[in-house]
Formats: sequence, structure tokens, C-alpha cells
Amino acid sequence: MWRILRPDSLSVLRDERARRAFRRYFMVMEGRLPPRFLVCKRVPASFQPSWEEEELWEAHRSALEEFRRTLSLLDEGKVKFGDLKKPRLSLLDLKVELSRRLLSSCRLCEHRCGVNRLEGERGFCGVGKSKVASEFMHYGEESLLVPSYTVFFSGCSFRCCFCQNWDISQYPEEGVELSPRELSALLSKAAKNGARNVNFVGGNPDPHLPFILETLRESETPLSSVWNSNLYYSSESAELLRGTQDIYLTDFKWGNDRCAKKYSGITRYWETVTRNHLTAFSDAEVLIRHLVMPGHLECCTFPVLQWIAENLGERVRVNVMAQYRPCYRAGEYPEINRPISPEEYRRAVEEAERLGLNLEP
Ligand code: SF4
Repeated sequence: MWRILRPDSLSVLRDERARRAFRRYFMVMEGRLPPRFLVCKRVPASFQPSWEEEELWEAHRSALEEFRRTLSLLDEGKVKFGDLKKPRLSLLDLKVELSRRLLSSCRLCEHRCGVNRLEGERGFCGVGKSKVASEFMHYGEESLLVPSYTVFFSGCSFRCCFCQNWDISQYPEEGVELSPRELSALLSKAAKNGARNVNFVGGNPDPHLPFILETLRESETPLSSVWNSNLYYSSESAELLRGTQDIYLTDFKWGNDRCAKKYSGITRYWETVTRNHLTAFSDAEVLIRHLVMPGHLECCTFPVLQWIAENLGERVRVNVMAQYRPCYRAGEYPEINRPISPEEYRRAVEEAERLGLNLEP
């Protein structure tokens, strides 16, 4: 049925620009390469859980170098995945340990609250234990992702006044508590039902990084992993994400800190999000969503598109989105309390085309 509803999800398989930008993702989908997290599980890491955090980071740097070498050999066909042995302790085990250290004085995102979430303290996002608000096969994502097994976590590091998922993002206590093993079993089932990937979102997945890494550690399902995030995570989280994700599906809507602060309650937006785009691009494949906001072409849309053109170019795919609808508390801000006009969308797309970006049709 989904093939009828989304014929573009089949035609994208023959789209040369998409295949160039997502070469490895397509090969994982076709069963010719393993997803990155499975490679991470085959790379040995030399550490002891009792070590100080700095020693663990040092071990992480070494294991990551080994990961890069292994990934290159696999991708060049010089090594077969089946020949790689499972080590006693892997790079993914080390990432799980480090992510728990981040939780103990929370630095998972750039709010850097410093609360001990392992002891039940809460920070800006309000997330305690990870809760899954819903999970299902999503047929509304970009063509190359559909069908996408999507896991919506409760809670978010942003407070967007227009959030369309506010009932999930602003209520971190809502949802079901699953174990990593239970969620990994659902991943396996989704793959058997034809999912092209597992898509971690929310809210936002960043406050749930430790739980998600543990879920991937439980899994042997050869499914690409998609990090569907606002990219406000910390540089430490960026290092832990390295080698675990196949696609960074990013939400890049603000072109300056003033708009980010006013409508999403965020400081240091531009510096954080541009830095994380560069890190993501150096690690895996990137699909950027830019939501055109009413009245924000000059201050947000044009600077975002310009930055992408200058720093990432056509090797990333860009989805210029017209879906904005005023939801949640948008009525408190009259200037964004309307959908965008056809003229605004046309100008946004024209600018993206003028810059030569690789656009999602
Ligand atoms: S995830 Fe971010 S917002 Fe939540 S407690 Fe940690 S640092 Fe604070």
C-alpha cells in the first residue's frame, strides 16, 4: 500500500543526486554494507568502567581511530563484515559508559544543566527516565527514508512556542518506559516488516542518548540509524554519536540567536547548531530540514541556506519545508500566527536553487 501512497519512495532509488549524497545509506538498505552501529560493536575498546572520565575519553579517541580504519576497509570491500569478531568490550560499550558519565552531571546538550539525572534530578528538558511516547512505521518522511520505523521520545531541549508535537515535547513524563532490549526487539520486528531505518526523534532524541546507545548495543538488526534532532547537543554527545548513526536528519530553522531565543527559548543557537552540522557531516550522511517560518526569510531562511551552500554544498540533501502551521502557543506571537504564504515558499525555494543546493523534490 505505501508504495502506492509514496511512489517517490521507489523513484528515489534511481535518483542519482540522492544516491551520491547517501551512497552508504543506500548500500545498507540493499544489504551490501552493515550500518555503522554494528561496525562499532565489532571494534575493540580497551578500558575499565572504574576509570576516570578523562581516561575513558582517551580510550574513546583510540577506538574511534580503529573504527574509521575498519569502516574504510569494509566500504572498500577489503574486509567482510562476517569476518569481524565481537570483542569482549567494544567501542559501543565504551560509548554507553561515557554517556552515563554525562548523565551524572548532565552535559548531553548545550544547556549543560549539570544535574545528576542518575539520581533523579531534572534539568531544562525535564527528562528523567527515557519514555517512548509512540513508535510506528512512518510513511510521511522524506522519500529515501520511507517506510521509517520512528520512535518518538518524550521531552525536548527546546521550548518552541509553535511546536506541533507539544503534547510529546513538553511532557517528558508521558509515554511508556521500555527496556533497551524491548526496544531492540521492536527494531527487529520493524525491519522484518520492511522498515528502511530506525528514526530516533521526539521531542528530541538528545536527552535520551544513553538509552538509545544501549538499545543499539542490544541490537543485531542491520537497519540504518537516523538521528532526527534539533542538533543542540553538546560536543561530548557529538563525539558519542560518531560511528553510531547513518543519517543525521537535522532541523535547522533559525538563522540567528535572537529568533532562536524568542521562539524556542535557546541561547547560543547558531554557534552550536553550525558546529554540530560540521561534525555530523564529517561523520555520516546528512539530510537537513529547513522549516520556512512566516516573516523569517531575510533573518532565518536566507542565512541558513547560504551557510549550507558555503559549508556543506550539494553533498547534503536539503528539504525546504512549507508545513508550518501555528500550533500550541503561537497565538501569543501575532507575527507567526499564520501559515507561510505561497510567495514566501516560492522565494525560499528559488534561493535554494540559486545556491545550487541538492533539494528534496
Ligand atoms: S539533556 Fe540537556 S536540557 Fe536535559 S538535563 Fe541534560 S543538559 Fe539539561
